[in-house]
Amino acid sequence: MWHDVLTFENIAMAQHFLLSRPAKSLSLAQVFRLSDAEAETMFAKVRWPQTDGAPVCFKCGGLNAYDCRRPNGAPRFRCRGCKADFSITSGTLFASHKLPLKAYLAAIAIFLNEVKGKAALALSRDLSLSYKAAFVLCHKLREAMAEEMRGRVVGGDGKVAEVDGGYFGGYVKPANLRENRVDRRLAVNQNGKRQVVVIVRERDGQSVPAVFRTEGQARSWIKARIAKGTTVNADEATSWDGLDAHFEVKRINHQEAYSLDGACTNWAEEYFSRLRRAEIGHHHHVAGAYLLRYAQESSWREDHRRISNGDQVTRLAGLVMSKRVSPDFTGYWQRHMPT
Ligand SMILES: [Zn+2]
Repeated sequence: MWHDVLTFENIAMAQHFLLSRPAKSLSLAQVFRLSDAEAETMFAKVRWPQTDGAPVCFKCGGLNAYDCRRPNGAPRFRCRGCKADFSITSGTLFASHKLPLKAYLAAIAIFLNEVKGKAALALSRDLSLSYKAAFVLCHKLREAMAEEMRGRVVGGDGKVAEVDGGYFGGYVKPANLRENRVDRRLAVNQNGKRQVVVIVRERDGQSVPAVFRTEGQARSWIKARIAKGTTVNADEATSWDGLDAHFEVKRINHQEAYSLDGACTNWAEEYFSRLRRAEIGHHHHVAGAYLLRYAQESSWREDHRRISNGDQVTRLAGLVMSKRVSPDFTGYWQRHMPT
């Protein structure tokens, strides 16, 4: 087996998850011990789980393909049915990859080992990749994570969920001289780039984020993402006022207490503390066009924080391999950075 058999049951629940054995098991070390052939087998198994790693033609779905490896040893198959040539990654997020498969596995392990989120620059140093390659790779991993929460609905009868919002981006630098300074809380003095991440998170369950201009615009999305019969917890902000038309709502006034009569938004706050730490780590990237991707990454990390490192790596590799070619990042630098 390429990683230790450490399961959810092995985790001492009373212990902080970062101190537990599965979280500490450095699957990165195990990745580096793999031979190229073992990495190939591992990728083939997550790509074609239904045939236990035997190649399936990505064009016609045929099962009759033979090995026609490149002279440099890169794995390649040819379909006897439609004559198409394909690799383990053809048609996936890692299509037309340039690195050995082992490097991608290492990238996933490094990306996941860093609980706060991994900066592309640090990843490029760890793996001797160009910054561009590391940047695109990180975003492809976020895209794969997002795939898991597509259309997700949390809660249900007897379940409890929390809703909260956090503002990101749109920083306006205060003027040097006091007399030139403006009230940056007023809409008129903002730069329009400020966005709010809204999270719905089931207690002891899954979460799903989205990005809006204001919290108030999130109401119909919240309604669609929380199942009927769920008890919803929210803070005192007027943005959540309409929710009681659809759910039983418990409000917590943070001016008075963080938790009162079972009402709190601690699960949502925990999510935002993770996203804030990511923001600090990547401060110039978190806002703007990719805010949703960072929000989804934090959500994925929160939801899977108690499964072992090795299991997280296999799971993310599986998502990457089942996700189609990236609409966001295929040829990204060619489009954005002509040289
Ligand atoms: Zn074929």
